[in-house]
Amino acid sequence: MTRKKLFVANWKMHFTVVKAIQFLQKFREQVGNSSAEIVLCTPFTALSALRYEINKKVKATREKGEFSMQHIRLGAQNLYPKTEGAYTGEISPMMVKELADYVLIGHSERRKLFHETDAVIHDKLVAAHTVGLIPILCLCAVVSQKKELVNAFTEHKLEIQLKSFVTGLHFDAGQQLVIAYEPVASIGTGNAADPNEIQRIIHFIRRQLDQQFGSKIAATTRLLYGGSVISKNAKLYIDQPDIDGLLVGSASLDADEFARIIQVQ
Ligand code: PEP
Repeated sequence: MTRKKLFVANWKMHFTVVKAIQFLQKFREQVGNSSAEIVLCTPFTALSALRYEINKKVKATREKGEFSMQHIRLGAQNLYPKTEGAYTGEISPMMVKELADYVLIGHSERRKLFHETDAVIHDKLVAAHTVGLIPILCLCAVVSQKKELVNAFTEHKLEIQLKSFVTGLHFDAGQQLVIAYEPVASIGTGNAADPNEIQRIIHFIRRQLDQQFGSKIAATTRLLYGGSVISKNAKLYIDQPDIDGLLVGSASLDADEFARIIQVQ
């Protein structure tokens, strides 16, 4: 079973609309006709302008068969799990769906800084699926135990997290899920994790999906690694059999560097 490689940029709270468009113009020159799928998870404010730019380019080049940015998708970094109503400052799933195909759910920064609970993350996943968005569920494990306990602790924690997030999700209408494993100690620290260790854990996550949803979902769900990925280490992860792509924070803010990461496959 071959899964299309997926490279996700998490821009976090970076880039005004003007800067986002400048990035896109530069990036599309650098990335060429890569066969990978690329998702830019941008601030809400940049989504509309980027959507317009991408649609314009796709339309203009469709007949010519030239590189058209068709494999560049947009993602949001959050949503509010209600259809509509008096929720000042929030963005509904349908508002995101108008502009994007993907949405990040449960990033460790949202848990830490905005106190998102497992229950909220579960509701956001369901809400994303309801409108046809593809959630990129971020899983992490805060490893604070003694060395000899680390492996068992990580797997146990991931098993509990995953169960509480995905129990009750349905895939019968073609819904998709992407999962990104991001060890907290590697996010934004420059301490990229050991690729063999990541392969082991990602394989464990795939086995959990098999138990929960069966072999088809386990085989088709794309599982990513995230944490201090740069062009110099990206290939070490991409070459692992269970790792289907990368979630990239800091390095995705530089169009040349993000394009180099995508070209390692
Ligand atoms: C992230 O925050 O999702 C991330 C992967 O960040 P970085 O690449 O900067 O570690």
